[in-house]
Formats: sequence, structure tokens, C-alpha cells
Amino acid sequence: MLRKTTLITGGAGFIGSHTALTLINAGQQVLVLDNLSNSCRESITRLEQLTHTRVEFIEGDVRNQKLLDDIFSHFDIDAVVHFASLKSVEQSVRNPLDYYANNVAGTLNLCRSMARAKVFNLVFSSSATVYGDPARTPILEDLGTGKPTNPYGRTKLMIEELLTDLATSDPRWSIALLRYFNPIGAHESGMIGEDPTGKPSNLLPCLTQVAIGRIPELTVYGSDYPTVDGTCVRDYIHVVDLADGHLKALQALRDSSGVNVWNLGTGVGYSVLQMIRNFEAVTGITIPFQFAPRRAGDIAQCWADASKAGRELGWAAERDLERMIVDSWRWQSHNPLGYRSSPVPQFAHK
Ligand code: NAD
Repeated sequence: MLRKTTLITGGAGFIGSHTALTLINAGQQVLVLDNLSNSCRESITRLEQLTHTRVEFIEGDVRNQKLLDDIFSHFDIDAVVHFASLKSVEQSVRNPLDYYANNVAGTLNLCRSMARAKVFNLVFSSSATVYGDPARTPILEDLGTGKPTNPYGRTKLMIEELLTDLATSDPRWSIALLRYFNPIGAHESGMIGEDPTGKPSNLLPCLTQVAIGRIPELTVYGSDYPTVDGTCVRDYIHVVDLADGHLKALQALRDSSGVNVWNLGTGVGYSVLQMIRNFEAVTGITIPFQFAPRRAGDIAQCWADASKAGRELGWAAERDLERMIVDSWRWQSHNPLGYRSSPVPQFAHK
């Protein structure tokens, strides 16, 4: 009997490729749809090398309704994990229309095609940004959403509301809103990892690119936040733990209906300066950095209470910060130019 397929939009990207790997390793059939606006085809080739299977890949855009309808009519899809999105807070402040068009309109299209094809299981990549500037930490799901401080966060909140309305309108929908904290790390093989197109805006890729010599020094935005040392505090989570959360959420979706919200984080916050010191201690590389004014859209601090995912999904983050840094650095040092590194290094993978 043919296996049902999980469609992964944005599956060539950082979290999508790790989730594809986790699902394939769990025996699931996947189909990746990605327009490669922030990723490259090589990530799919690496997935194939890691899994020794052919990974079905379509280069295309979730804003293309006809393409989506064709995909749902040609493949036996029973669930979608929706990663496809623009994700830079900084760029979203400068180009809000791109963010609303890509993220919100793209999701709207996807849901239309899913409804037409009678596919009602959806896992959505949401973000801690929907909490806005939280009144208290750790953040629990029942704190309720706040006022996101930037257009990127507002697209995530709009999509959450859109999906909640959809589930209210039709009980066949089963939707997971996964609110990620700050994903870092890479698969232990060093074969797949975070490879943003252009200048990275998240801390870890900036750190590893400084360490490898692609960026001369790290810019630390803001030294006067009301935090332990004046720099922003975030809850960093290993991308492989995050991917495992998607597998568990998909399993839960198939036995439930309506909307479920789960935080995926570790519950521990680290400041930017603590991250620099930890990175230096783990890698032995000194990171030159300078302070710059606060960046528009950044909040002072946030970390998760992810106990709901523990109780309801049987999920918990297992990998600590040292492991996250070791794996991020292995990826970057084996692939100095990301997926464009040439020749492709030989990996010893157990
Ligand atoms: P990523 O940029 O590596 O992956 C997103 C992928 O989506 C890319 O491969 C990109 O090419 C693709 N894409 C973008 N627009 C598309 C479109 N219109 N059609 C088809 N493909 C499209 O980012 P990521 O870090 O893997 O993030 C994945 C998801 O998780 C995103 O929705 C992001 O908003 C969310 N998220 C990320 C973080 C983080 O810090 N990385 C935190 C919270 C939430």
C-alpha cells in the first residue's frame, strides 16, 4: 500500500530540512515545496545522502495557487507542515508588504488548496514573537498573545488568528501552532545546517560566520536592556529537538481536532554576551564584537515554559547549550560557505 505523504513547505530551509530528516527517519514519506528564496537545492541533495532515499522536491511558491492545487491532486497528502515564510525581523521593518504578501497571503493560499483537497491536518511554524513584549517570563501559552513588536511577528499573529477562525468554521481542521523560541544548532553529521542567503540577522549564524572569517566582527545590538548584563536574553533550542517536536505534533494532530498551541523551548535564557562567552569557551575562538544601538523590533528578554508540550506531546528539549554550539560550529566549519562550499566535504556519519 502506498504511504500517505506529508507536504513540507519551506522544507529546504534550516528548520524544514531538519524536520524532513526526522520525519524520513521515522519512516514517513515527505514532499518538499520550496521557492529557494532563502535556501538552496543542495540541502535536498544532502538530505538524500543522509537518508539514502530520494527526497521528492518541487521548486515553487506557496503563493502559486495553481501549483498548490496540482500538488494536492497529484500526491496522496494527509498533512502539511508549513515553514515557508520570510523570517527577518529587521527586513520586515523595512519591507512590510513583502512580509504580509509572502507569509499571510501564502498561508491563505495553502489553506484554500488544502480545503479543496480535503486535507485538514496542519502544523504551523509560529514564533514566540506572537507574545510581544511579555509581561512575565517564563512564558506560558495561556499568557495569551500580546502585541508583536515588528511586522514579522504581526504576520505570525495574523496567521494564528486566521487558522483559529478556520478551525472554528469547520471541525475537520486539526491545527498545531508551534511557537518556537530561538532555534540554533545543526544535525550532528555537519551535513545540514543554517545557511541564510545574504547577511544573517540571527545571533548564531552571525557568531559562526565571524568565527570562520566571513564577517569581521559581531555587532551586539543594545547594551542597556534591563537584563542580567544589558544585552538581550533568549531561549535557544537545538533544531533537532525542535524537529522532534514537529514529529510529535503531527502524531497528535491525527487524533484530535481544532487548534492546539505548544511552546517549543528549553526554559533557559542566555544573554548575547553569555552566548559569546560560551561560544568562545566551546570553540576556543575569540569573537571580536562591538556594541551598536538597540535594533528596531527587539524585546529585552524571553524564555519559554514548555511544560504543556511535555504533558500533551511527551516532548522535551534534550540537547544543552554546549551541544547546540558544538553542532552549529561543526556545520559552519565543515561548510565555510554554507551549501555553496566546494568541494562537498566527506563526512563520517554513524
Ligand atoms: P528558512 O528561511 O531557513 O526557511 C524558510 C524556507 O521557506 C526557505 O527555504 C525559503 O526559501 C522558503 N520560502 C520562503 N517563502 C516561500 C514561499 N513563498 N514559497 C515557498 N517557499 C518559501 O527559515 P527557518 O529558520 O527554517 O524558519 C522556518 C519557519 O520557522 C519560518 O516560518 C519562520 O518564520 C519560523 N520561525 C523561525 C525561527 C528562527 O529563529 N529560525 C523562530 C521562530 C519561527
